Amino acid sequence: MTTVTNETAVTNEQAAARARAVIPGGVNSPVRAFASVGGTPLAITRAQGARVWDVEGNEYVDLVASWGPALVGHAHPEVVAAVQQAAAQGLSFGASTPAEAELAEVVIDRLTVNGVRGIDKLRLVSTGTEATMTAVRLARGVTGRDLIIKFAGHYHGHSDGLLADAGSGLATLAIPGSAGVPAPIAAQTLVLPYNDRDAVHAAFAAHAGKIAAIITEAAGANAGILAPEPGFNEFLVATAHAHGALVILDEVLTGFRVSTAGWWGLERTDGAIWRPDIVTFGKVIGGGMPLAGLGGRAEIMDQLAPLGPVYQAGTLSGNPLAVAAGIATLRLADAAVYERVDHAAAVVASSLSEALEDEGVEHVISHAGNLFSLAFRSGSITNYDEAREQEAWRYPAFFHAMREQGVSLPPSVFEAWFLTAAHDDAAIEHIVSALPAAARAAAEAEHA
Ligand SMILES: *Cc1c(COP(=O)(O)O)cnc(C)c1O
Repeated sequence: MTTVTNETAVTNEQAAARARAVIPGGVNSPVRAFASVGGTPLAITRAQGARVWDVEGNEYVDLVASWGPALVGHAHPEVVAAVQQAAAQGLSFGASTPAEAELAEVVIDRLTVNGVRGIDKLRLVSTGTEATMTAVRLARGVTGRDLIIKFAGHYHGHSDGLLADAGSGLATLAIPGSAGVPAPIAAQTLVLPYNDRDAVHAAFAAHAGKIAAIITEAAGANAGILAPEPGFNEFLVATAHAHGALVILDEVLTGFRVSTAGWWGLERTDGAIWRPDIVTFGKVIGGGMPLAGLGGRAEIMDQLAPLGPVYQAGTLSGNPLAVAAGIATLRLADAAVYERVDHAAAVVASSLSEALEDEGVEHVISHAGNLFSLAFRSGSITNYDEAREQEAWRYPAFFHAMREQGVSLPPSVFEAWFLTAAHDDAAIEHIVSALPAAARAAAEAEHA
């Protein structure tokens, strides 16, 4: 008989030590190990609204928001009730459910802006990594070509071909790609500097007839915020199409976060007329449950199995609990939610800048809709090289000063700060009042 230990870890350090003994690095996703800020990773036991609690019972105003999904706040009662109701009916059937079609309808409806449909059909998967991996296979299957263009500092999950020069955990850890990726697979990915039109033209000229697709974050948000320069996404679509290639717009992070219809929705509301060929979703679409998806025009999406020759499948794809959380979250995420998130982000970003200004700390805040990030340097940031040229060593002191005052920030300077609709005036005030001491800590930090 196996023994179940009833011991409960009482400190974050004890929880981390226990985890390190049985889980590589003590974590199931690298950024959670706090490698770039040092100190003991938080072991979280509970979250509600804008707040999280660690194993020691410490309460934090949370700016991680599960890396985005908690758009309407953690454990929103309507989302939790939807998941509980679904769970009572069975956890997984290995067959279709009516709710999957309902979620697809909700997404397609939200992606219809100014009378134009962004996507006609949606396939659900479980993670953003699966969504982009499938999107790449689909683009290759449709075009009969192999090469993919991606941009330096853009993160599209951890599938082999998309790890080259990615941001996210890799920006922090400074791993150029990953061990275990065969060179012939890495060679199928061309990595270009972001916002560089000449580089895109040159790649198509050098590899005529061989490029299947450009994959791009709708707005870069995994190496700090790298917003597309005005017209850049439209340029990518026009250029790709002129060369018989497709554009995969990765909205895993931005989708349903920066607007009802994601980043594409923002550009379209501003009058843009371009349409992506394939769009990937994740994070907010599952409201905190493992759910992601890819959508596109019907003639492209129908190339997927069972209709077409491009294979894709998943035992837990369209899982009923995840779909219930997604539907409930998207139904809650109305115009008032985006107004609230936009407002909270604007207040926190400007207070952050003021606090650093007061301490004479050189900094720039980069914005993409309601997403923003901090960099310890001057001037604007348009690509990965510029994002990395900063005094990142100031961040650990800043991070820990915020943590000591009950604010949980992303444990890397290269991540966006995530506000939610649950960040009410009290939560915002808590963050704002913690900023001056953290700015002082950043000013006093010494280069290791
Ligand atoms: C988070 C993210 C992914 C990967 O999603 P996972 O669910 O972590 O696999 C892909 N693309 C972008 C833009 C992301 O931010």
